[in-house]
Formats: sequence, C-alpha cells, structure tokens
Amino acid sequence: MKIYLVGGAVRDELLGLPVRERDWLVVGGTPEQMVLQGYTPVGKGFPVFLHPQTKEEYALARTERKTGIGYGGFTFYTGVDVTAAEDLCRRDLTINAIAKDETGRITDPYNGLADLKKKILRHVSPAFTEDPLRVLRVARFAARFFHKGFSVAPETMELMKKISQTGELDSLPGERVWQETITALNTNNPEIYFEILYQCGALIYFFPTLRENYQPADNNMCCPASTAMMMAAEEGQNSLIRFACGFTPWKSCLADSVACYQQISAMVKQLKIPSKYAEVLLAVVQHLPDLIAVEKTDTETLLRCLERMDAFRRYERFLVITTACDYLLRAAKKQRGQQGWLKEAASACQKVNVGKIVAKGLRGRQLADEIRTARLKKIEKCLHAAGTPCPDNRAGQ
Ligand code: ATP
Repeated sequence: MKIYLVGGAVRDELLGLPVRERDWLVVGGTPEQMVLQGYTPVGKGFPVFLHPQTKEEYALARTERKTGIGYGGFTFYTGVDVTAAEDLCRRDLTINAIAKDETGRITDPYNGLADLKKKILRHVSPAFTEDPLRVLRVARFAARFFHKGFSVAPETMELMKKISQTGELDSLPGERVWQETITALNTNNPEIYFEILYQCGALIYFFPTLRENYQPADNNMCCPASTAMMMAAEEGQNSLIRFACGFTPWKSCLADSVACYQQISAMVKQLKIPSKYAEVLLAVVQHLPDLIAVEKTDTETLLRCLERMDAFRRYERFLVITTACDYLLRAAKKQRGQQGWLKEAASACQKVNVGKIVAKGLRGRQLADEIRTARLKKIEKCLHAAGTPCPDNRAGQ
C-alpha cells in the first residue's frame, strides 16, 4: 500500500500558497486494510476514509466510467491494481493531477508541473467533458489564480463550450452551482469567474440576467456591476456585498426595476440561492433607482426612502444595501453621496427613543405619527449640524 498527497494541496504547495485542505490517495490498499488500521469509512459512493487522528480524507485509487447523464452519472472501479497514474487521469486539470509520496517524490503523468510553470489551466484528458461541474471549477480556478497570471488553455475552453452546448449543465443542482459561485466570489478576481463562464456559454445558461453585465462592450468598458464587484473585492468587502454588486443587472434595473426584480426573483429561486443573499440582491434592485433619485435636503423624502427600505426594523440589512449601491454608483461614476446622507439620516433616526414614545400611551396612527415626527426632527438636526454642504464633498471622501 502506498500513500500520496494529491490535488489542491500539492498544487498550492508548489505555487508557494498556504495549503488549506489535504487530500490523500491510497494505491494498492483495500477497504478492509484501511478499517484494520483505524480509518473510518465515509459514505461517499466510493471508498473514502478518515484518518484516525488528522481526520483528513484518504481515498482508494479508482477509475471511473461514465454511465449516466451529467454530474452524478459515474460508476467507479477501485481495486489494488489501480495505479496512481490511472487515478490521476480522471482529475479535471493537469495542475490538480500531481501526486507526492512520503519521500517528497513527485508523480506527474500529465505534465502538471510544466503547466504550473506556464500558468495554464489545462484539462487532463478528453473525459473532461463527462462532468459539467468542471466548467464551473475551471472558471473558479481562473478567478482564484488570475493574480498569479493563470489563464485557461484554448483547447480546454473549447471543451467547456462543448459542455455548455450539450445541455449537460442541466444536471447540476442549483446548490452545487451556488457553492462554486460563492467560492469564486471570495477570490481576488471574482469578475474572471463570470467572464470565463460568459466566454464558454455557461453564464447565459445559469444566470441569464447577467448577460448584460459580462458581455464585452463595444467600447471595451466594464459594466458598472462588474467594476463595482471588483472594487468591493479589492477593498476586502464580504461575499454578500460582492454578490449584490456583481449580480445587479445594471442597465435593466435602471430601465425597469419592476421587471428586473421579477427576473431576479425567478433566478434566485431556480438556483436556490440562500435567502440572506437573495434578499439583499432583490432589495438592491428594488431601491437602486430610489437611491439615485433621492435628494439630501428634503427631510420628508429621505424619511420616506428609509421607510421603503425598512431601514428602522432591518438596520443591518439597510447598511449592506446602501454599501452595495454605493459601489455600483461609484463604478458608474454617477453622482455619489446620497447614500452617505441616507446612512447619516438612518443613524440619526436610530437615536429616537421609540420606547419612550410608546410609554406615553399613544396607539395606532397617533403613535406612528409621533415616531415619524421625532425621526424627521432627528434628520433635520443631522442635516443642519452638517451645514448641508454638497453631498459629493462629504460622502465621496
Ligand atoms: P480547493 O483548494 O479549492 O479545495 P482542490 O483542487 O483541492 O481545490 P477539491 O474540490 O478539494 O479541490 O478536490 C480535490 C481534487 O479532486 C482536485 O484537485 C482534483 O484533482 C479532484 N477533483 C475534484 N472535483 C473534481 C471534478 N469534478 N472532476 C475532476 N477532478 C476533480
């Protein structure tokens, strides 16, 4: 029995990157031997075991055969006769198909080392087309390693186009698409993920509403949504803000936010996007036109805008929405700063002591009116204290 370190751990080590997770390949071993040595089997459809101490995954070498459609349609063969090279052959990219034994000796049957040097994401074999998940994985690796100078090999891009055209993408569950997408959003260059998916035809398939954001413009300018997402990534914003920026169909949203809202609702449902993300995106699409239009000096308009955004009951969500809109407006080089005023107004309104007003014994309309009046006063005071300078000079700094 021989054990190799494989996959991402070998790749990242060779790239000089920190190793996050270690996967091991066991050649010449049987399930019985593994159990005897204290490993715990994990129910994954093929023999994978957890190490008794480290809990890292040890998989018996296997070959696979396509027997059904799409992502799950494989049968596996594991036997003591399966070699490391045979196991590595079923992997997606050459840079992910390098193994290292306990002495540090590298097994590299598909020239992954050369591709690491050339900074190329290249498929291992024509069997690449058998699993549509690989389209998303390659786009994700392209985003992750873009800053290192990596790009997708033209011949691999051709296979990705082929997968996108055959209808195989249909077999990917929404959750799996989301899992790859959220991981890509957290890379240094999430825009590359969407650009690669656009180039191979998968973007239009999964996220039809995003076509306008990622198709190259005649003037070579990036769309504000893509630029906003890049800025948010550069400034270390979390995936929620990056997602809300990159997934807002900018032009459609400004042209007809109601229709846009409906399209986005359908997309988030179909892809089963977690509600925390879906809600924020829908709120951005709904309120972006409002945020562009709102005027700083009109306290009533400011308050109405805050009420429409549910800013008092859901203050944290309001902050996320306005931050995402801020990036979008900055990226579009639109007049910036109204959200700054809104945030200040919302923060001032937070200081209204609602409990004290309720304690006065007011009910219904009267109570609501009193709270509104108190909030209007706070907004007025906040604008007055600031001397109502030009908003661009304040929030834009
Ligand atoms: P990450 O650092 O993002 O986890 P990784 O390469 O370790 O990257 P894993 O999903 O943990 O990614 O997979 C481990 C290894 O298994 C990969 O390096 C690759 O060799 C192989 N692999 C995983 N998924 C696929 C797939 N869908 N098709 C082919 N090979 C795959």
